[in-house]
Amino acid sequence: MNRSADVVIIGGGIIGCSIAYNLAKKGKKNISVIEKNYLASGATGRCGAGVRQQWGTIMNCRLAKESVKFFETAKEELQYDRDIEFKQEGYLIVASTTKEDEQFKKNVRLQKSLGIPVDYITSKEAKTIVPYLNTEKIISATYCSKDGHLNPFLVTDAYAKAAKRLGVSIYTDTEVTGIKTKNNKIESVITNKGEIFTEVVVNAAGGYSKEIGNMVGVELPVYSERHQILVTEPVAPIQKPMVMSFSLNIYCQQTPHGSFIMGRGDSNELKDFRTTSSWQFLDEMSKTVTELLPPLGKLRVIRQWAGLYNITPDKQPILGPVKEIEGFYQAIGYSGHGFMLAPMTGLLLAEQILGEKTTIDVSTLDKDRFERGELVLEPSVV
Ligand code: FAD
Repeated sequence: MNRSADVVIIGGGIIGCSIAYNLAKKGKKNISVIEKNYLASGATGRCGAGVRQQWGTIMNCRLAKESVKFFETAKEELQYDRDIEFKQEGYLIVASTTKEDEQFKKNVRLQKSLGIPVDYITSKEAKTIVPYLNTEKIISATYCSKDGHLNPFLVTDAYAKAAKRLGVSIYTDTEVTGIKTKNNKIESVITNKGEIFTEVVVNAAGGYSKEIGNMVGVELPVYSERHQILVTEPVAPIQKPMVMSFSLNIYCQQTPHGSFIMGRGDSNELKDFRTTSSWQFLDEMSKTVTELLPPLGKLRVIRQWAGLYNITPDKQPILGPVKEIEGFYQAIGYSGHGFMLAPMTGLLLAEQILGEKTTIDVSTLDKDRFERGELVLEPSVV
């Protein structure tokens, strides 16, 4: 293991690997990524892997649009020898309340003004896209055919391999157990395999990010919450787009090999590090999804899993340095949308660390916005 590094990134999920790649691509040398398990073992490898550009703020629309552009050419950009399985088969987001309907009209105006190919459609039109959709409780929908999903393991592996080619050292099965500081500056990172001297640490530890903050005495306004997913037996292709409802708090897609994957948010979920599966989720998920997509009730469930959302009070990430400790950067608190924004997160963090002007202004995502009462008001978040 290297005994010193210019930058140590804690976490080998898609965010940590994207930051490492972007820093190395910009010419930064001597970067180490430390992962306590294996790459993508955290939320990244457990997520729904959905990618949508249908957001309600300029910043999120731009972050998502640029990230989609990256995914479209990631295989070439990262010189990966496999397909990362980016399927742009659309996202259909349904509105069930008049409040949602009004919001969707505003969202679509904004998204269109930013060049996102999206349409506000009637429930009848939504049924032509997903014929078995139950439109009884649907007022309208929005649809973007360029949204989609991709394979989280492959894209993380692609980032990691590209980073390694550029000289990044990646240590798996290596746990960060402490961080030393001196005069409010980072001095070194302690791992179970030795100490690495460095002046810059990036916290990309996902569900464990608060614990990393505690190592340097910085209270990070995040908590972790279990989110569960279920998978059905595979069937012939019947549903192209991801179907999503904010009011039912669910999403459901058919994967390339035929299984349906679906998940749902629940504010009563466990708020610790447990990633066990529950009967209650199975029960409630099945009831809710069959209200919207009735024929799916006939499918057999073959598997369940869970992962951690890392959540801030406004469900938007914390990006960048903190004032308490020089050299301590955050890329945390993404709630349910960190996977899709990873390409831009990697670029923006690299720019911040190198002292460059950021491609998109993300200064509103600093840690102290909560103390100032300046929350980022994103209406289209789960
Ligand atoms: P992670 O992938 O969690 O990586 C953090 C890594 O840090 C872990 O591998 C962990 O082992 C490591 N680590 C932690 N502590 C230490 C330590 N002390 N030392 C060393 N290593 C450490 N997002 C989307 O965009 N679209 C979706 O459809 C979507 N669906 C989701 C569904 C579910 C069920 C869940 C749980 C999440 C979903 N998300 C989705 C959110 C998305 O998965 C996350 O925002 C994203 O993966 C965060 O990536 P990350 O690299 O920051 O975190």
